Amino acid sequence: MQPIIQLRNLSFQYKNAERVLNNLTTNLFEGQFITILGPNGSGKSTLAKCLNGILHPTDGVVIVDQIDTKNEDLIWHIRQHVGVVFQNPDNQIVASTVEEDVAFGLENQGIESSAMAKRVEDALQKVNLEEYKHTEPHHLSGGQKQKVAIAGIIAMKPKVIIFDEATSMLDPIGRAEVLKVAKQLNEEEGITILHITHFVQEALLADRILIMDRGYIIADGSPKEILSKKDLLEETGLDVPIAVDLAHRLKEKGYSFHTDLVREEEFI
Ligand code: ADP
Repeated sequence: MQPIIQLRNLSFQYKNAERVLNNLTTNLFEGQFITILGPNGSGKSTLAKCLNGILHPTDGVVIVDQIDTKNEDLIWHIRQHVGVVFQNPDNQIVASTVEEDVAFGLENQGIESSAMAKRVEDALQKVNLEEYKHTEPHHLSGGQKQKVAIAGIIAMKPKVIIFDEATSMLDPIGRAEVLKVAKQLNEEEGITILHITHFVQEALLADRILIMDRGYIIADGSPKEILSKKDLLEETGLDVPIAVDLAHRLKEKGYSFHTDLVREEEFI
């Protein structure tokens, strides 16, 4: 597997503040669905901003698709290939219809109008919003607005999509809609997904989980490995999902119940 994003001794410090990211080194591989879990303030959003060049490392390097994010001449390549869906659905809508909103990012790319219309149509189909193309975005639910934001990213043909707490302002239906699209884009289109969240149960969708705490990556493994570390989740201040907690309690009492039996469909 090729690393699509490489972190080499990445550290970051905001002006006149303490370090927020501490010497992070890891590879994120093409086609992975990675969840970054961590409590508020652990540095997740700062990391996301370093990954698409919004912020530059104070020390170390971030290499995306073979390009150093400090390379200003090629930053457009990184922005095009690493899309970010942010937390607040209302802050990401820029146009007065769904269709225009999805086309917005393409407009500066000099794409011919029939090719642009096709890309917008395909993107709306992938998030299951074709029938809303003429709708004014403010009539949509939070989950649907996030899907419009995702369609705008898909239209740019990205290699990576970062969901930066993109589910945290949504109701359970909206969360499930957005996660389902993320999973489909990963499985069907091969897009690398980086899902940043503090909801532990959402991490069951991932191939790989990283746990961040105070600017460090303190754990890195499969959902099975990470979710069996109930103490680690608790020490980090993350909520242990009820089903995981139950599995551990039953195991302590000698029942052969394992977190394997906790299926992702039960959480979304
Ligand atoms: P998370 O996404 O895990 O909640 P953040 O990356 O948003 O964490 O924040 C990590 C730390 O950096 C926090 O202590 C936060 O207060 C601080 N921080 C975030 N943004 C800024 C900023 N623009 N200026 C100064 N400090 C910041």
